[in-house]
Amino acid sequence: MLAERAARVRARMAEVGVDVLLVSVGPDLPYLTGYTAMPLERLTMLVLPRDGDATLVVPQLEAPRVVDRPDVFALRPWGETEDPVAIVADLVGPAREVAIGDRTWARFVLDLQAALPAARFTRSAPVTGPLRAVKDAAEVAALRRAAEAVDRIAADLQAGKIPLVGRTEADLSADIGRRIVDEGHQHVNFAIVAAGAHAASPHHEPGERVIGPGDGVLCDFGGTMLDDDGVGYCSDITRCVHVGEPPAEVAEAYAVLHEAQRAAAAAAVVGTPCEQVDRAARRIIEDAGYGDRFIHRTGHGIGVEEHEDPYIVAGNATPLAPGHAFSIEPGIYVPGRFGLRLEDIVVAADAGPDELNRADHRLAVVDA
Ligand code: ZN
Ligand code: ZN
Ligand code: ZN
Repeated sequence: MLAERAARVRARMAEVGVDVLLVSVGPDLPYLTGYTAMPLERLTMLVLPRDGDATLVVPQLEAPRVVDRPDVFALRPWGETEDPVAIVADLVGPAREVAIGDRTWARFVLDLQAALPAARFTRSAPVTGPLRAVKDAAEVAALRRAAEAVDRIAADLQAGKIPLVGRTEADLSADIGRRIVDEGHQHVNFAIVAAGAHAASPHHEPGERVIGPGDGVLCDFGGTMLDDDGVGYCSDITRCVHVGEPPAEVAEAYAVLHEAQRAAAAAAVVGTPCEQVDRAARRIIEDAGYGDRFIHRTGHGIGVEEHEDPYIVAGNATPLAPGHAFSIEPGIYVPGRFGLRLEDIVVAADAGPDELNRADHRLAVVDA
C-alpha cells in the first residue's frame, strides 16, 4: 500500500520537476509513512528523493513510536546533541528542486534554506495534493468505515436514544465525542452542537446553553479512524434533530435544504465540474428565497485531512474524477431564529455517486 503510494509520489515528482520531497508534520506524513508526528520543536522530516531511498529523520525519543517500514523508508533517529537540519541537508545533497510540506514550521524551512543555498524551495501541495484527492479502493473503504461509524451515532440521535432535553450543548458534544471514539475512531476532530438560534452560526462553539422543548439541535461531528497502515481517514456528518414538532418556518426551510442536498448528491457524477455540484444545491436554495442564508460553499474534499481538495465551490471548474471524496453540506442560517445543515460524504465513482453516509436525511423529531 504505502510502497505503491511512494511510487505514485515519485512519478508525480518527475512530472512537476521535483528532485526531493521534504515532509514534516501534517497529514502528508502519515499518508506517506503511516506515522503521525507530534508538532514538536524537534524536527521530524521524511526525505523522499525522486531517485533513491527515502529516510525518515525523527527525534530519538520519538523513534519508538515509529512502525518500521523498510519497504518505504529507512529510519534515522537523531540524538539531542545532533543537528537535524544538517542531517536533512546532507540527505538532500546536491538536489536543486526541493518541495517542502505546507505545514512545516517556518523555523525549519528557514534553517533548511540557509543550509541548502543552491536549492529552490517550492510547496509540496502540487506533488501530494492531486494524489491525495483521488482515493483508491482501500481509501474509499477506510472512509466508508468511518462514515458508517458516525452514521450509527446519527441514527441514535435521530431515534431519541441519546438524551437531549436538559443537557447543555457542551455536555451533548462531549457525549458525541465519546461515542466517536467508542465507534472505533482514533480521535475526535470536532463535535459541534448548536441549539436553537445558536445553529445560525455554522461553526458554533458548544456552550452552556441548555437544550429544551422547541429547540432545533444541529449536530456536526467527525473523527479520524486508522487503517491497517496506521493512516487516519476522517468522518464528517451533520444531522438536525428537533425537540418536539418544528415550527412551520423551520419545516419549510428544511424541506428546501433536503431537496438541495439530494440534488447536489445526484449531481456529483464523474466529469461534472465541482462548481456545478455547488450550483445544484444553491439554485434550489436561491429559488426558494434563502439564497443569502446559504453562506458557505457546498462542500470540501475529505481524506487524511478533514478539509482538502476538491472544494465544492463556485469557481472550481475541476471535473470530478473517480475517487474524489467530498462532503455535500448545504445550510440555511437565519440569525436570531434557527440554522439547518445536512451533510454527507460522497465519492465520485464510474457507477454514479457513492454515498458513504446513509443516516436518515429527514429532520428527526424527538420527544420533548
Ligand atoms: Zn461537518
Ligand atoms: Zn464538512
Ligand atoms: Zn433523504
